[in-house]
Amino acid sequence: MATGRVFTLNTGAVIPALGLGTWQSGPNEVYEAVLVALKAGYRHIDTAYVYGNEAEVGNAIKDSGIAREDIFLTTKLWGTYQTNPETNLDISLKKLGVNYVDLYLIHWPTPLNPNGNHEFFPTLPDGTRDRLKDWDFVKTWELVQKLPATGKTKAVGVSNFSTVNLEKLLTAPTTKIVPAVNQVELHPYLPQKKLLDYAKEKGIHITAYSPLGSTNAPLQQEAAVQAIAKRLNRSPAQVLISWAISRGTSVIPKSVTAERIISNFDDFVLDEADIEAVDAISQTTAKRLINPNWGEVVFHDD
Ligand code: NDP
Repeated sequence: MATGRVFTLNTGAVIPALGLGTWQSGPNEVYEAVLVALKAGYRHIDTAYVYGNEAEVGNAIKDSGIAREDIFLTTKLWGTYQTNPETNLDISLKKLGVNYVDLYLIHWPTPLNPNGNHEFFPTLPDGTRDRLKDWDFVKTWELVQKLPATGKTKAVGVSNFSTVNLEKLLTAPTTKIVPAVNQVELHPYLPQKKLLDYAKEKGIHITAYSPLGSTNAPLQQEAAVQAIAKRLNRSPAQVLISWAISRGTSVIPKSVTAERIISNFDDFVLDEADIEAVDAISQTTAKRLINPNWGEVVFHDD
């Protein structure tokens, strides 16, 4: 049984510790996945404009019969809209069929050319990313931080921000609001200790993405995870999810498989020794799994 743990954001709002991720959940499968999740007790759903599945996510929320205000819904601003965040948010709200989201994140620190050769991933003739040269995330944040006042999002935050980029953002004279959340890749191969300490000091909540090691959940095969799972009579995925929550981060495992969605919703308190045993995995295998090349904009600490 899920413990229903929650965290409190710097806005005072509460974010359920465990949510459903929906990246690579195709439009034909995500509707069912979100319905199953909401039925199982999830009250936190993570999507993004670029995932191309907001309409189906929204339909499932509506059809679940669960009151909108009982669900914590996150979506994200795509790089080609960084000069015009409210327009991208309006599109997302329309697709989702809701009046507001609970959290709106700058998806990546990199602004992309809105008039480039591709809607999502514009490139230059030499194949590199077509980034906006006269814009940066500080300017984007200047616009994003005005969004809560519109009522279209309850909170705003960032994603894929390193400590260096957070510091740049927080010390900019135009920054009036501290991001509520920084959603980053975080799992035993990439425990993000430095970022966690920094975020805690600044009052920024961290959400851990790719908690199972992303596609095909490779972290389940780790011996330390399997040993704990066996001893506690849990699945390796449940151990990985509980490790994330026990470290103070919310976590958004993705699945489109009903029985996995249901069994993943089972966080429990891992004791210190088990947390440390999982932490130790990065001493032998340290790696980043989601690593798009954004050109000059470095989005990680390592
Ligand atoms: P996850 O670490 O959540 O792993 C997903 C994979 O694990 C899928 O292949 C899924 O398969 C499988 N899986 C899930 N549960 C189980 C289980 N109990 N047993 C075995 N396999 C399982 O990877 P993601 O990269 O999807 O990260 C989670 C979410 O984080 C994303 O969906 C997205 O919402 C968010 N994210 C955000 C990013 C950002 O830039 N802000 C970047 C990447 C992710 P199946 O679905 O077939 O069941």
